[in-house]
Amino acid sequence: MPYHDVETTDRAALRDRQADRLQETVDRAYENVSLYRNRFDEAGIGPGDIDSIDDVERLPFTTKEDFQEEYPDGLFAVDWDDVARVHASSGTTGTPKIVPYTDGDLQVWREVMARSLHAAGVRPDDTVQNAYGYGLFTGGMGFHDGTEALGATVVPVGGGNTARQIDLLQDLGSDVLACTPSYCLYLAEQAEERGVDPRELPLSAVVIGAEPFTDPMREEIEAALDVTAIDVYGLSELIGPGVSIECEHAQDGLHIWEDHFYPEVVDPDTGEVLPDGEAGELVLTNLTKVGLPAIRYRTGDITSLTREPCDCGRTHARMDNVTGRTDDLLIVRGVNVYASQIEAAMVDHRRVPRRLRRRSGRPRGPRRAAPHRGARGATGWRRGGRARRRRAPGDREGNARVRPAGDLTGRTPPRVYIGERGQERVCADHRPGPARGSAVHRSGQRSHRLCATLVTADTPGRGTSPRGPRRRPARPPRTPRCCRCGGSPRRSP
Ligand SMILES: [Zn+2]
Repeated sequence: MPYHDVETTDRAALRDRQADRLQETVDRAYENVSLYRNRFDEAGIGPGDIDSIDDVERLPFTTKEDFQEEYPDGLFAVDWDDVARVHASSGTTGTPKIVPYTDGDLQVWREVMARSLHAAGVRPDDTVQNAYGYGLFTGGMGFHDGTEALGATVVPVGGGNTARQIDLLQDLGSDVLACTPSYCLYLAEQAEERGVDPRELPLSAVVIGAEPFTDPMREEIEAALDVTAIDVYGLSELIGPGVSIECEHAQDGLHIWEDHFYPEVVDPDTGEVLPDGEAGELVLTNLTKVGLPAIRYRTGDITSLTREPCDCGRTHARMDNVTGRTDDLLIVRGVNVYASQIEAAMVDHRRVPRRLRRRSGRPRGPRRAAPHRGARGATGWRRGGRARRRRAPGDREGNARVRPAGDLTGRTPPRVYIGERGQERVCADHRPGPARGSAVHRSGQRSHRLCATLVTADTPGRGTSPRGPRRRPARPPRTPRCCRCGGSPRRSP
């Protein structure tokens, strides 16, 4: 049973609804946003000119640059008095994009997120640990509000603080973890470092997004945590997470909630709309957003669409897993290469050393078979049951001193995971080697060598300070610590 009847509505009725909503959106944008009014005039489109949803192709595109040039509120379609909340993109590649939400927009967001989590298999009696960053980034609040709207329990941990994340997972018996895919793997590795078998964590599923990832990386996550990994997609410019998600039933493409977001795939160079099945740049149009309706927004994400009904019964269009971005494209000797393809090769390359490393004495169960799409059937991934407290000898507080490599508070991730889980499973900035430490450290039940570059405890990012220039006189350098166990060279056995 879907969360909302509209998920299985027939496509003719859906198209009628989309056309009505597009007309309202175009009228509102023309009335209230000068950029849209000027562009619609140039294109010869005015209020009342939308007869069917196919007319969307007559509308001009909106781009990231439009958001940046109209910073902060040039694209707002309502007065500030009517704005209930703002969020912003991370701004790591330029001026942040500010997006406003009216009360009604927030209600829509809660509804599509609840719908998404339900499609992913979350039910009201589940507990969701939310490890997406809270704040201007939409990930934290989006999952938080959606989980509450669904009636499930949310644990609002936010990004980072991995030792605490692991403790809470065990103590509260969370069923679902929401975080980025790279953080899933980091958390699994940190659990192992603390003597906790990540496969014994109570999780049944992880809902991963905010970064492109490949099927091999998904399989690695599912094997490492013994979970089903569900892909979720969204972006601040449209609403945040909740634009589309895979269903637990088939995991065969992400269902786009088409009654709120109209999808197209276009040729990135010409802007021509491509037929279903062909890969190109995803273009999305808000059909119901009032605060800032994004009309034909070029997402930069590479995917393809299908409008065939899913095995689960939902009729909305599905998009393929995002495999790259138009701005990640490298042309190597005339061949198009996306960063995600490099990542896929790296994951495969690392597999052999990862298996060979399993000699630390901890028995492992048989590796779970690779997920077979479409075979999950009615039983789904839910294992049920609550976690039992499990703390291995040697597990102690204070081991996890390493910052995760990814930016967990922003939408722009590290595109290539080189080094993050390199041959020796070290943190992103540190490679193994004998240069500055060949002593053996002990962390839990595992031994490892010091990495070549040592981190200094309590240093919030090398060379930077959140408080600006140093105000205090220079202190003697702190004892360098190993980036893996936090131990100092003197503590080596
Ligand atoms: Zn489905």
